[in-house]
Amino acid sequence: DSGEIKILLLENVNQRGISLLEKEGYQVESIKKALPEDVLIEKIRDVHAIGIRSKTKLTKKVIQEAKKLLVIGCFCIGTNQVDLEAAANRGIAVFNSPFSNSRSVAELIIAEIISLSRQLGDRNIELHQGNWNKVSSQCYEIRGKTLGIVGYGHIGSQLSVLAEAMGMTVFFHDIIQLMPMGTAKQVNTLYELLERSDFVSLHVPETEETKNMIGEEEIARMKKGSYLINASRGTIVQIPPLIKALQNGHLLGAAIDVFPKEPASNGQFYNNELNSWTSDLLACKNVILTPHIGGSTEEAQYMIGAEVGAAIIKYINCGTSIGAVNFPEIDLRAIQDTDKTIRLLFCHYNVPGVLREINEILSDHNVDKQYSDSRGNIAYMMADISNVDDQDIRKIYETVSSNRANISTRIVY
Ligand code: NAD
Repeated sequence: DSGEIKILLLENVNQRGISLLEKEGYQVESIKKALPEDVLIEKIRDVHAIGIRSKTKLTKKVIQEAKKLLVIGCFCIGTNQVDLEAAANRGIAVFNSPFSNSRSVAELIIAEIISLSRQLGDRNIELHQGNWNKVSSQCYEIRGKTLGIVGYGHIGSQLSVLAEAMGMTVFFHDIIQLMPMGTAKQVNTLYELLERSDFVSLHVPETEETKNMIGEEEIARMKKGSYLINASRGTIVQIPPLIKALQNGHLLGAAIDVFPKEPASNGQFYNNELNSWTSDLLACKNVILTPHIGGSTEEAQYMIGAEVGAAIIKYINCGTSIGAVNFPEIDLRAIQDTDKTIRLLFCHYNVPGVLREINEILSDHNVDKQYSDSRGNIAYMMADISNVDDQDIRKIYETVSSNRANISTRIVY
């Protein structure tokens, strides 16, 4: 019964997520702040789902206390704040929303392309400081200029469409062959892209290959008078060679939204909190620096609320784990809407022979659909069983949940 499901939302989760969960009939408690660990432990014992953002640390210790917890919704991008393995070992699926802010990032990049091209950042600072400096030298339209996108995923491809609409020519480089949007063209190598582009914008994930991807050699390959934009991850660009290229005029500007080290909270920071090169970077002309705000918009927060809210509902009501970050991802079509069909959800350790034992239990019944998958040592099985009465349901639950490999067993209908 959905009225018995208790949800705890912390850290001011977006209203969209709250409304979705309330509409489902769940008991939803929403708190604006993160809770101290002892209060969190007290509260988490009683809830079936918890929604958090980046400040709440769901450690192994906290998760062990969460006896009824089925699902964790991270209403944000990252999931480092959750002990994912501890959650999986308790049969708790964790969801996040990695792509809700792609459009927001792409729009920021468009703003930066024009701002760099027109030196808007510098003019703005000058006028705020009481300095009228009307110049047109080295200020350009972006129409007809070439944008090179490194990493053509959710953000890169959105950016491609927006840039073409403004009259830019778009090239991209990616490690996989991708269908270009509009008339964009994929190039084979990073160097080819760097050599052809007036603007280079980076949209790759942080991996072993992308770490320090743009260094002295790569910057040297960029066109003289071009611009570099990084709103991906702080480790992708080596800042000292960038500073050098800005100082000697090889690059006409740069926009940086992400840093190798970022302050933990808002407020005054000391130069060395970013890095030893901070003051050199601050002194460069035509450099737009922003505090990791690429995805920070009301719309992105709304989308995150909608996406994570929907994932929690589907997991609670139907067992669907598609999009989970720590769990085998499975789904079946909608459950048959008859009194006599149930869905068995069995999360278990991935040990040999278990499915045979479960199918033995189910063999007396009519299994309409069944699906299972594993991820590491955790496996998850979903089966729709028809023509069962209350007694069958009880028996199935009792035998499956007492299986030697059981982590958690649920029956939904
Ligand atoms: P995505 O996974 O959708 O796309 C990444 C693309 O990069 C993929 O197509 C992948 O094939 C490609 N790629 C991977 N390794 C590559 C390599 N070595 N060379 C070339 N291409 C490579 O990711 P996304 O959602 O578009 O995000 C891109 C980046 O933006 C991520 O690093 C993400 O953390 C960052 N991001 C930043 C903000 C912000 O606030 N600034 C917000 C959201 C995402």
